[in-house]
Amino acid sequence: MAEELSRSDREILKAVYRLTKTEDGAHTGTLADRMGVSPGTATTAIKRLDERGLLQHQPYRGVQLTKKGRRAAVAAIRRHRIVERFLSDMLGYPWNEADRLAGAFEHELPQEVEERLFVALDRPSTCPHGFPIPEPDDADIPDLPPLYALQPGDVAVVAVPGSTDPDVVEFLASLGLKPGVRVEVREKHPFDGPLVLRVDGKDRTVGEKVANQIFVKQERKERTA
Ligand SMILES: [Zn+2]
Repeated sequence: MAEELSRSDREILKAVYRLTKTEDGAHTGTLADRMGVSPGTATTAIKRLDERGLLQHQPYRGVQLTKKGRRAAVAAIRRHRIVERFLSDMLGYPWNEADRLAGAFEHELPQEVEERLFVALDRPSTCPHGFPIPEPDDADIPDLPPLYALQPGDVAVVAVPGSTDPDVVEFLASLGLKPGVRVEVREKHPFDGPLVLRVDGKDRTVGEKVANQIFVKQERKERTA
């Protein structure tokens, strides 16, 4: 049974989930920054979620999600990605607008409507950005590696975060690189040099900086070393 959560509860749980995956972890100040609220507001919300058993706040260690809190955070991400799919697949919004619009109404959706939407969308496995939609009870979402982590011979499907600079998105589009596109790595130049990719029958070169901003779901490994 899904826990009833408010918009700010869900946003905090998602932010904690993402921050605890980074080296710095989730601390009140960082969380307040991420959420665009004052440290006092963040502290109050953290305390409320701690009392509900969704997270634990320990001095110096920062905020950690409990098992229940992780499930709730993953469920909130699932909901966001399903709503993004609805906007792009059913309403025809471009993939890079889905993120912003989903945030405007996903929290108002009853749980049963979310489930029906998922079925009506034919149970999609990724959001329009190319990131996986977790199962309802998953406690974690596997991270996709950056494109730059691939090696020659690797084949993968591209995912582009919604936060990507629009100029970078435009550049990627000019190379045929957008979410869901399959690429094969032809060459990786040494010393942080560029990647040469096969995209839709053409060789395309992408520098390290851009290749580290997009992510991939790897399909097969064929090391040529
Ligand atoms: Zn997305």
